[in-house]
Amino acid sequence: MNAPEFCAGVARRNITPETSIWMSGYPFRDRPSEGALHPLWAKALAIEDSNRTRVVIVATDLIALPRDITDLVSMRVQQRYGIERSQIMFNSTHTHSGPVVWPNLMAMFNLRREDESVVVQYSRRLGEELFSLIGSALADLAPAQLSYGFGETHFAVNRREHTPEGVRIGINATGPVDPQVPVLRILSKAGHLRAVVFGYACHNTASPCRSYQLSGDYAGFAQAELEQNHPGASAMFMMLCGGDQNPNPLGSIELARSHGKTLAAEVDRVLETVLSPVSSPFRSAFESISLDFAPHTRETFENELKDADPAHVHRANAMLRTYDEFRPVHQTLYPIQALRFGPDFAILALGGEVVVDYSLRVKKRYPGKLVVAAYSNDVMSYIPSRRVLQEGGYEAIDSMVFYGQPGPFADDVEDRVLDGLDAVMRRVGISVEGTRKGADFSDGS
Ligand SMILES: [Zn+2]
Repeated sequence: MNAPEFCAGVARRNITPETSIWMSGYPFRDRPSEGALHPLWAKALAIEDSNRTRVVIVATDLIALPRDITDLVSMRVQQRYGIERSQIMFNSTHTHSGPVVWPNLMAMFNLRREDESVVVQYSRRLGEELFSLIGSALADLAPAQLSYGFGETHFAVNRREHTPEGVRIGINATGPVDPQVPVLRILSKAGHLRAVVFGYACHNTASPCRSYQLSGDYAGFAQAELEQNHPGASAMFMMLCGGDQNPNPLGSIELARSHGKTLAAEVDRVLETVLSPVSSPFRSAFESISLDFAPHTRETFENELKDADPAHVHRANAMLRTYDEFRPVHQTLYPIQALRFGPDFAILALGGEVVVDYSLRVKKRYPGKLVVAAYSNDVMSYIPSRRVLQEGGYEAIDSMVFYGQPGPFADDVEDRVLDGLDAVMRRVGISVEGTRKGADFSDGS
């Protein structure tokens, strides 16, 4: 074969806030940022198959990208470049040392008007940057070789520690984890590394929770390390189902740096192995399903107004407003996306802070070469499994306050997500029945 089957384009934008800005991820910080340890990046990879079907993957050193931003950017990309919503995947590294992104997690903070305006302006600008970033990646398309492989690393630990007082954030050494590190390698026609996309299911929270220096945390260090090892290449981290996973140990910049090095070393090791070639055609599907919250009444939030915690009062006020306006919140939209690359390789991109149970369950359900990413396209809350919801704790209940959601999900949340993702997978020709039959997803579609 003379002509390469694929084209790829890469682009990047430095999205480090230019001024001091409130940082996201923890309610404890008492002042805005004080400088940056290293730049924060938005990076895009555009790939095109032999039928000229395109897929764009966007990675960002941010806590999350809310749908307010991703909807707008994809709409503009669709208008300008004719690329459908299903063909663009946005992921965030979930760094807890990045800026607040409006309106994600807004109930977590009590921002003064001037601090809020910095955040709103940054987020607006971010939309512009992402639109132009995608344009640059598309303009950069050139013949490329695509291949993929899997490695693993082990610094993530299940953080749902069971205590006599209930589940708290700590260390659960026997809880489920997913050590897999998927790697997508993009070489130029001449064989030079142009980009590497890699992922891991682990909160990006190795840095101290009261650090005031902006950084990409371990994922930022891993990307920087890989880019240093491969001059000219873009390293893009994709956050997987790490909702209930924390780095272990954690709590210092040095640990963020060393976990980053560990992850980069594993990606480098995989890059040197014999990888599987990606094949055509690309197929994509995107759907927003709706997830129900557990029932609540106006009284639920009238009582919550008396809570000593300002985040609860904030949430209660927001919910009472929705009751006043005759639109109480009983559901949330939930985006599910599937990107299929030829018969045997696919990325399933789920919204929200998805706990690891989903990753393990979905990979068993579709025993092919499947990457289950989370923190994609929107992050409206944690997404607990049935087990996590029943056990309670931060991911099931407490975090909903910071997300400004009315309360825990209804009992059927896991079934809804699984039904939704089955439907999206079917639209790219992958079915549970088909997958069980063979070693890949090829079920005649
Ligand atoms: Zn989180």
